[in-house]
Amino acid sequence: MKKIIEWDSIEVRGNRSGSKKTTCPACSPDRRNSKDPCLSVNFEKGLANCHHCGAVSFRKDESFKPTYTPPPQDWQNYTNLSDGMVKYCASRGIPQRVLIDFRITEEKQWLPQTNKKENCIVFNYFEGDEIVNKKFRDGRKNFSQSKDGKRMLYNINSIVGAKEVYIVEGEFDVLAMASQGIDNVVSLVNGANDHDDQWVNSQKYLDDVEHFIIAVDNDPKGIEVREKIAHRLGKWRCSYIEWTDKDANGSVMSNNFDSDLTKIVRFPVSGTHTVKDLEAGIFDLHRNGLPKTIKPKHKSFDNVNDIFSVMKGHLVTVTGIPSHGKSNYVEWYVLNLANDHDMKASFFSPEHTPMALHQTNFMQKAIGRNFWKDVDGLPRIKESDISRYTEWANEKLYITAPDRGEVATWEWLIDKFKEQLYSYGINIFVIDAFNKVQMPQGNRLESINDILTKLTAFAQSNDVIIFLVAHPTKMKKKDNTDVYEMPTLYDVSGSADFRNQTHDGFTIHRHFGDEPCTEFASMKVKFQFQGKIGETCKMDYDLPTGRYYEKGTNPPRFDMTIPMEEQILAPAMKPSPSFNTNETFYDIDEEETSTPF
Ligand SMILES: [Zn+2]
Repeated sequence: MKKIIEWDSIEVRGNRSGSKKTTCPACSPDRRNSKDPCLSVNFEKGLANCHHCGAVSFRKDESFKPTYTPPPQDWQNYTNLSDGMVKYCASRGIPQRVLIDFRITEEKQWLPQTNKKENCIVFNYFEGDEIVNKKFRDGRKNFSQSKDGKRMLYNINSIVGAKEVYIVEGEFDVLAMASQGIDNVVSLVNGANDHDDQWVNSQKYLDDVEHFIIAVDNDPKGIEVREKIAHRLGKWRCSYIEWTDKDANGSVMSNNFDSDLTKIVRFPVSGTHTVKDLEAGIFDLHRNGLPKTIKPKHKSFDNVNDIFSVMKGHLVTVTGIPSHGKSNYVEWYVLNLANDHDMKASFFSPEHTPMALHQTNFMQKAIGRNFWKDVDGLPRIKESDISRYTEWANEKLYITAPDRGEVATWEWLIDKFKEQLYSYGINIFVIDAFNKVQMPQGNRLESINDILTKLTAFAQSNDVIIFLVAHPTKMKKKDNTDVYEMPTLYDVSGSADFRNQTHDGFTIHRHFGDEPCTEFASMKVKFQFQGKIGETCKMDYDLPTGRYYEKGTNPPRFDMTIPMEEQILAPAMKPSPSFNTNETFYDIDEEETSTPF
C-alpha cells in the first residue's frame, strides 16, 4: 500500500485551487534536493501523489454524506495470518510481504452459499485510509462482501496520478501483479460482471489516465467484459492482454507472466490506419463474410428486417408526421435491440413527463400486457410484474433529463452522452426529438449541419448507435385530397443535411380509413447489405401493449423480462376493436412545438 499523507500537511504557494506542484511532506525533508516539487496536487479532485516516494493524499469531504456504510475500521486487529492462509497464497505465487502490504486479513464470516461461518481471506478495499468495502472468500471460492459497502475498484489508492493502469478481474490477480512488481493495477469488484457503481465511484481516479491495459480473464465472459470496459473508457486509450493461462495469477504460476506482458495489443481505433492495421479485418471479411448488421430477433419484425437494419457507429434518423407513431415505434425497436443484443439504451425524450408515466409505456412493450386494465382475457400488469420489470430494466434502460434550471442544449446533451458512456456503458442513444434540444444562435442551416456532424462523429468514434427522431417541417398533401404524403428525410427541417449526413433512416407513416395500418419505409442505409432503400412494409399496431408487428400476423405476446425458455406463450389473440384506452399515453410526444422549455 502506498504511504498516505495528511491532506492538511500539504503546503502550496497561493490559493488552494486548480492543480499545483509542491514539496512532499513525506520525503522532501530527507532529500538532498529538498526544494524539488515532487508532489502533484489536484485541488478540484482533492487528490495528490508524489513522483519521488509514491505517497498519496486524499482530502476528506466533511459535508459528504456517504450512500454506503463503511465496514468497521478494525483491520489492524486481524493482520496475523494463519500458516495455512500464508501457505495457500504462496502456492498461488503470492508471497507474504504482498499480503502484508495489501493489508489482507483473515476473518470468520457467514457465507450465504454454505449458510455458516467460514474462515475467509479478506480483501480490504481502501480509499485513502478508510476501508470502504470488504470482500470475503473461503477456501472453496465462495464469496461475499460488505452488505452496504462502496462498490469501487480494488486497490484504488495505488493508481492516484498514474498515467497507465492495468485492469484485472479479481483481487488475486492484483496481488499476483504486485508480486511481480506492478502496482498500478485495479480489479473489478464483481469479477466479470460489469456493474455501473464501481465505475461511477472510481471515476475521479480514472479521468486522467492515458492508457488502460485490460488484462481480465481469458475466457468467454472475460472477453465480453473486456469489450464492455473498453467501450466505457474509450477504445482509443485502451489495450488488452490475452493471458496464456486463465488470468494474471495463472500466468504468474505457469511462468508465462513476463512473456504475456510483452504482448499488449491496441484496440483498433478510428483515425489513421496502415493497411497492415486492417489485415485482421480483411481476413475476417474473407472468412466470415460481411459484418453483422443489428436487427431485432423476434419474428414480428421479419418484414422490417428484410428491408432495414442498423450497425454500430451509425446515426439513424427517424421521421414521420406528428401522431403517426414514430416515437412509439422507436421505443419498441430499441427495446428489442437492447434485449436481443445485450445492449444498454439511454432515452432523451423530454416531452414524456412525468417519467413514471413514460415507464408504463416501456413496461407494456417489455412485458406485453396492458398497464391499466385487463384486455380480452389478457390480464393487466401485476405489481409483481412491475418489480420484475424494474429488475430487468435496471442497468439496461436509462432516462436522460435536464435537472431543474438546466437547459437542454446540444452541448449539454453531447456532454451527457459522454458521461453516460463512461458511467453506464451505453450502446444506444435515443434523441426524441431534434426540436426539443435548444439550437445555438446564428444561421439555422449551418447549426443543423454542425450538430449532425457532431452526432455522426460521436457515434463513429464510440461505436454507439444514435436514433434521432425528427419531425418533417413541410407536409405535402396528395393531389386533390386531404391525405398527407409520406415524408422523406429530405422533408426534415428543410435541410438536405439530414438525408446526406445520417447513415441510416426510416419513416413511420400511418394509414387511416378502411384498412388502417402503419407503414415502415426504409429511407436510407449506409451499406447495401443493410437493407433496401425505398422499399416499404406494413405493420399492425397492438393497442394494449404499444407493440408493432408484421401486418396480418398475430400480435407478439412474449415477455422480455422472463427468459424465453421459461415462458408459456398464451394463444395468440387480437385485441378487440372495442378496446379503448386514452391514446394520449401513446402519442403524448407527437405535438410539434417550437420551444420545448
Ligand atoms: Zn514524496
